[in-house]
Amino acid sequence: MDDTIVKGNVVNDRLLKEGEKYFYKTYNRFPVVFDHADGVYIYDVGDKKYLDFGAGISVCGLGYGNDLVNRVMKSQIDKGLLHISNLFYNEPAIDAAEKLIALSQMDKVFFTNSGTEAIEGALKIARRYNYNKGKKNSEIIAMQGSFHGRSMGALSVTGKDHYREPFEPLVGGVRFATYNDLDSVKALVNENTGAIILETFQGEGGIYPATEEFLKGVRKICDENDLILIFDEIQCGMGRTGYMFAWQEFGVKPDVLTVAKALGNGVPVGAFLASGKASDAMKPGDHGSTYGGNPFVCAVASAVLDVFKEADIPGHAKEMGVHLFKALDEVMEKYPELIVDHRGKGLIQGLEFAADVKVSDIVSKALLEQQLILISAEHNTIRFVPPLVIEREHVEAMKERLIAVLDEMKA
Ligand code: PLP
Repeated sequence: MDDTIVKGNVVNDRLLKEGEKYFYKTYNRFPVVFDHADGVYIYDVGDKKYLDFGAGISVCGLGYGNDLVNRVMKSQIDKGLLHISNLFYNEPAIDAAEKLIALSQMDKVFFTNSGTEAIEGALKIARRYNYNKGKKNSEIIAMQGSFHGRSMGALSVTGKDHYREPFEPLVGGVRFATYNDLDSVKALVNENTGAIILETFQGEGGIYPATEEFLKGVRKICDENDLILIFDEIQCGMGRTGYMFAWQEFGVKPDVLTVAKALGNGVPVGAFLASGKASDAMKPGDHGSTYGGNPFVCAVASAVLDVFKEADIPGHAKEMGVHLFKALDEVMEKYPELIVDHRGKGLIQGLEFAADVKVSDIVSKALLEQQLILISAEHNTIRFVPPLVIEREHVEAMKERLIAVLDEMKA
């Protein structure tokens, strides 16, 4: 074995042991320590090159080492001002706000440090809007199979018992409807209902897009009952479905929109945005964040949004999504006994495997034997959420590597 690989393995093993010793164990991590990255490739500490089809769970939309983003980030560091608090204005935050509002068609923005915090803010707008109308203790309808984050508020609207139950009691007044089933939503609406929250496209839950009919129907229910409609686009927004925001495909606009992940391309920043009746529900003193919207993360978000617009990243994702769809359809046809469904659009697609196939083995073999980074989702599904800047050749390379893994599983 060549010297670099041996040295890399030694460093890798040492770091694995240390990580195991120090980290609070809420994750089962794969035994690889990553070190640097470029484009759509990530390298481990032994300089082994991996093709990335996970983008850090749908985060690194522009891949790794984008020139403009790097330049802007370095220049903000050179200015010396990384943080100033929300007691003052800063120009990068104003720039990022202007661009995000223009692209999202919303009216107001609040920058957060993560997706979960964006959800917290969205839920607070919903409660506050109803409270302002004299409706105290208003209820929220959320969806089965949803994922909105791990804080107590976000968990409360996450439609998976195994995530929620160990931490109950959570925030009260939440009821769960069936995703894409309008009648199940209607059945839950009563005089206490104040809001409906849903992912425009369920990611973690197994790659399920909302139907146009469902989104339009939910919007109608909210209009008729004066409810706040919250779309969580933390995973599916920012170009991934081929539209800047997934709801724009159908023109069904929410009252509150949550965004994070690809907004910072790896720098932790999220946002909740409000439009119309939701845009002045909260008052000064109702909500805050020490770090949220600091000049450093907002300079990055602003540059990310520039690249999205100038390079038409959503358009590229749509085009690459067609190639990815064809490639994954071919894989499904080749292994009818292993794969039962192929879902998704743009660069958020999933292959669902038969119940007796261990998806975690496929993901692990892809990583360790084929240097292909994949991630799983619920419903025995592998989710394909690559950087949005992938090209056709990367789709082909992914397909070959995946086939190599599946051939081995079949043998
Ligand atoms: N909402 C959705 C749809 C998500 O996919 C996630 C994370 O995967 C979150 C919320 C939580 O975001 P974060 O992990 O940035 O707090």
